[in-house]
Amino acid sequence: MFPPYHPEPYSDFTEPAKRAAYELALAGVAERFGAAYPLVIGGDAVETDATITSVNPARPDEVIGTIASGGTGEAGEALAAAWEAFPRWASLPAVDRARHGVKLAAIMRRNKYELSAIETYEAGKNWLEAEADVAEAIDFVDYYARQAVRLAEPLPVVPWPGEENESHLIPMGAGVAIPPWNFPLAILVGMAIGPVLAGNTLVLKPASNTPIIGARWMEMVAAAGFPAGVINYVPGSGGEIGDFLVDHPKTRFVNFTGSKEIGLRIAERSAKVHEGQKWLKRAFMEMGGKDAMIVDETADLKAAAADAVRSAFGFQGQKCSAASRLILIDSIHDEVLDMVVEGASALEIGPPKDDFAVGPVISATQHQSILGEIAKGTKEAKAVAGGAAVDRDGGWYLQPTVFAEVSPDARLAQHEIFGPVLSVIRAADFDEAIEIANGTEFGLTGGVYSRDRSRIERARRDFHVGNLYVNRKITGALVGVQPFGGFNMSGSNAKAGGPDYLRLFMEMKSVTERWIAP
Ligand code: NAP
Repeated sequence: MFPPYHPEPYSDFTEPAKRAAYELALAGVAERFGAAYPLVIGGDAVETDATITSVNPARPDEVIGTIASGGTGEAGEALAAAWEAFPRWASLPAVDRARHGVKLAAIMRRNKYELSAIETYEAGKNWLEAEADVAEAIDFVDYYARQAVRLAEPLPVVPWPGEENESHLIPMGAGVAIPPWNFPLAILVGMAIGPVLAGNTLVLKPASNTPIIGARWMEMVAAAGFPAGVINYVPGSGGEIGDFLVDHPKTRFVNFTGSKEIGLRIAERSAKVHEGQKWLKRAFMEMGGKDAMIVDETADLKAAAADAVRSAFGFQGQKCSAASRLILIDSIHDEVLDMVVEGASALEIGPPKDDFAVGPVISATQHQSILGEIAKGTKEAKAVAGGAAVDRDGGWYLQPTVFAEVSPDARLAQHEIFGPVLSVIRAADFDEAIEIANGTEFGLTGGVYSRDRSRIERARRDFHVGNLYVNRKITGALVGVQPFGGFNMSGSNAKAGGPDYLRLFMEMKSVTERWIAP
């Protein structure tokens, strides 16, 4: 019915035509700096007295836009609008809903560089990182549209004499999606469109650091013909409206991605049944990581060092999948460490719009927090690269930082910093390396660089992470190719971009009809 799904290709920005097109998109986005965006509730643009100002982290006096900021009143109205839209949306054939998705993906694809350019300015992503995020967002829409059609088929059941038995999946109702800022389009879109293409309706509360990209996406949602109220967009402070939306008795499910701290809070609150609530809420919490790469003495050491640098410092280390621990077997420790230090120190730091390898971190708060962690780190290990802020245009820049001789139990090796900081840990042998790798409360991504088959097999079995990568970087999971989500305190293993994702937002109904004589 729809052509088969394929992940969206990335651009080769060494091609002059591609570079010119991206420059044009950046200029177009810059022309709209300072524009005001509304909430979207029941298809209506809603203004509020309070607003959120979104700034360029590379130049914080540059305002990307302002957006209305919802309070509990607007959040309640958005939930009501989502419930109002639910019966009609849920009753459409899955293929009709999927057609809306395929159309939306096409609109996003046509505007790929514009969306990427917004991210370059609003989130501080260089061209490749921004385009990869937008490509992933398109992939989520395209892939989930096809999954929605597949899941609409009745499920196979065992035949039983004298009865007709049928089991099928139905949507659940109106829920809430609360994404983080670090994949401001991909995660926002995936967390919203999955449940929606399964037939649910939604209140979408974006992260306050990056609400403009979502506002632009909402214009595309409307252009694709999604009925009013199916997705309601309510930026607002998580501290102010987050608890309200999570606690609300009319919230059917909560789809959260973000920090462990907030995830645990939501897990606890969503389990409580409030007055007037008729269901147990489904709640999914995808949280942080302290992801490790292991390199042994049989590996291609040069490739391993290059991929460690890429995994640790891509988008300034602000990925849940980023390598924050590098575990090196003793005999090759010094050689690989030298290459990693050299690679990290060679990364050029500068404005994302000029496509530097390393841009700013997202906010003043994050900048301060990371510097604080670096200061603490210097008390327990040796900083061998970076470690300082970089003063440029008032932006929130930091040097890529490498700590060596980090103890596996040190704060540097246990606490998620979520910035450009890599802790290098020495291991006596591969067994100890696996033990160290598994020795945190998290379990999101992990990597092994080795040519030893038995060790690779050992890692496949015993390295306890949701996404394990062998002989490559540990970031950049592709939708449909590497379903993504972790173990332990990394979350509920929802596996975004996997064939079961939409199933999380559906219920199974079984119908039995006894055959009676006419
Ligand atoms: P965060 O501070 O936990 O915020 C995530 C979202 O929760 C934001 O929209 C935030 O709104 C909202 N929020 C804040 N307080 C809330 C409350 N009391 N109730 C409900 N929602 C509330 O995380 P972040 O800094 O945006 O993102 C970074 C974290 O996300 C890292 O830990 C990273 O590892 C994790 N992450 C995990 C995955 C994964 O797939 N496992 C993927 C990406 C990121 P405001 O912005 O308004 O505060």
